[in-house]
Amino acid sequence: MVPANRAPLASSPRNQRNGVIPAGPKVAISARAITRLKSGHVWIYRSDILSTENAAPGAIVSVTDERGRYFGSALYSSSSQIALRMISPEPVADFPKLLRERVRAAIAYREPLVRDTDAYRVVFSEADFLPGLIVDRYHDILSLQILTQAMDAEPVRAALLAELTEQLHPAATAERVEPHIRELESLPPRESGLLTGDKASTVFTMNGVRFHFDIREGQKTGAFLDQRENYAAAAHYAHGEALDVFCYQGAFALHLAPRCRAVTGVDSSRPALEVADKNALLNQREIEWIEANAFDLLRDYAASGRQYDTIVLDPPAFAKSRKNLETALRGYKELNLRALKMLRAGGILVTCSCSYHVSEAEFLDVVAESARDARRSVRLLEKRGQAKDHPMLLNVPETSYLKCLILQVSS
Ligand code: SAH
Repeated sequence: MVPANRAPLASSPRNQRNGVIPAGPKVAISARAITRLKSGHVWIYRSDILSTENAAPGAIVSVTDERGRYFGSALYSSSSQIALRMISPEPVADFPKLLRERVRAAIAYREPLVRDTDAYRVVFSEADFLPGLIVDRYHDILSLQILTQAMDAEPVRAALLAELTEQLHPAATAERVEPHIRELESLPPRESGLLTGDKASTVFTMNGVRFHFDIREGQKTGAFLDQRENYAAAAHYAHGEALDVFCYQGAFALHLAPRCRAVTGVDSSRPALEVADKNALLNQREIEWIEANAFDLLRDYAASGRQYDTIVLDPPAFAKSRKNLETALRGYKELNLRALKMLRAGGILVTCSCSYHVSEAEFLDVVAESARDARRSVRLLEKRGQAKDHPMLLNVPETSYLKCLILQVSS
């Protein structure tokens, strides 16, 4: 048998066993969607659904083409625009068993790759062949997000929790609920909170830097673990006076601090800055935190001639969809232009985009334009992406979203 982490999720109809389609719910999809599956993608949009037969919300369904030929098993959502997420080229006889195998495979994948941290993403949805499930580890607490009807079913939750507990022995497992996503999936509202154990806060360590984690605080599942390797890379080049823009709980700032004379972090969220301040104390670092709108602050600082040796720009995703692309690019342009103007010769710019809809090429273009408009000559030191605990599937481009460029202003 192919190991769970190597198995393709979609297949050609040759995998059909003796021409027999398993009993149970079926969904027929368009020729266009079949082509997409054959290219290795795992999503089928609602507009490509031709018919459904007994497909209950969250069910495992047999996917067929319009002539009834079998193409594998998928998880069905009755309300999301992504109606089907492929999970196997074959019929799935025992779903909880498959889930447990895939959780084990996700953990095994990370063992040789994840270093110098006790906080990392344990399961990254499609990229770990567990579509709709995200699990992050913060030292002894697991933080879990369920994004689809199929993953929300009670037997599925029970299998996932049992395997995660058996493998990782967390002191507690917390669920972080995104009300907006539950609404999109037509799932009943649910509170965030502990699923197992009774520990709600802990301290975790990344690259030797310590952070507070509390299941009741923060954005996403708690921290931006996808930047973990970029924090270490940024620290490598950092020097002089540093400005961490969109600093959240201070992760870049704290990594830069040992290398820099002075560090300032800027964010518009007071709760994030309160945690940042506690993190500075935990690491015995002096960092100045400023609550401000980054656009206003950069405009004022640039106008008043302030200068820095290291600047980090890590804004939230500006392009939530391809429709916002122009606005997003304008946003990146403004930020990068001002930052480049403020850097001293030899200065370092670490600039990030976590918008999937802005490609690496588009991001590079906009930063190059900013350098031209700022009349600075700029070297590209590193083109980076998300940490390896956020794997990218080659044929599912949506799994690759984070861009991080490290640049040096030469004159
Ligand atoms: N660099 C952080 C992650 C940043 S996430 C890390 O590595 O942990 C984006 C941050 O931008 C969030 O903390 C959010 O509060 C902040 N933010 C969003 N809009 C902002 C604005 N206009 N000005 C300043 N901060 C903003």
